Amino acid sequence: MNPGGSKGSIIITGVGSGIGYETARCLLAQNYRIIGIDRQRGRFDELPAGDHLFLEADVRDFESQKQAIEREAAHHPIVGLVTCAGILVRRPYLELDEATFDQHLDVNLKGPFFACQAVLPAMRKQGNGSIVLISSSIARSGSVAGAHYAATKGGILGLARTLALETARDGVRVNVVSPGVTDTPMPRGHASDAEVLAKGAKIPLGRIGKPQDIAETIAFLISDDSSYITGQDIRVTGGAGLF
Ligand code: NAP
Repeated sequence: MNPGGSKGSIIITGVGSGIGYETARCLLAQNYRIIGIDRQRGRFDELPAGDHLFLEADVRDFESQKQAIEREAAHHPIVGLVTCAGILVRRPYLELDEATFDQHLDVNLKGPFFACQAVLPAMRKQGNGSIVLISSSIARSGSVAGAHYAATKGGILGLARTLALETARDGVRVNVVSPGVTDTPMPRGHASDAEVLAKGAKIPLGRIGKPQDIAETIAFLISDDSSYITGQDIRVTGGAGLF
């Protein structure tokens, strides 16, 4: 039995908002210990009382992130990692400067890349673990003024497949969840509330995603109910972009 009777610790980046926050709520209710990472607490303190810990860190600071994760792993078995921290600043391709590209690369791809490197030695040693990386439907569909974002989210797909192959024999599973447009602050950075909700009309299931839709899929991939699933990309899009 793990400390506190929990099912073990799950590291969640981007825990202060949107999908990361909802995933923490969902997994906390399923008796996991939550270690939330974000650059500010955001909604973290709205979580119900329970076994959770907030670590203030910028996921672009790969070394601090690694040290924080390794410190935790020394005390509690880390059975899961969910990388929700992400950014999207829309910019037409020809207007995109290198600094904006690098910012997206660092947060959306290098952050998850090195977070996996930080948790895998402990998971390998204990012989189990589940990693869920967050991509986006945009990795496949593309999106106007989002070439830099799409490039980072496409990178997540290749990273996950490769890690799934490299770690399967160690008892570690690596999967991706690719949300379609989801009701969080992220799409509101470049569209009004009404514009975001109106996107639901074009989605086969008739609405945009709720953070719970994504969180429940992540929780399934973390749990033993998905013990024969690795290297997959689960598209939680309400049926949008079927190709
Ligand atoms: P969100 O509500 O904006 O949450 C993202 C969280 O990541 C925020 O708390 C943010 O902190 C944090 N973050 C950003 N940069 C960070 C950094 N350098 N270090 C640490 N934390 C950082 O967005 P969301 O919708 O929940 O997105 C979660 C994931 O889903 C992202 O990877 C996103 O690309 C993906 N996704 C979202 C949608 C959608 O429509 N919502 C669709 C497809 C994919 P700050 O608030 O301080 O920036």
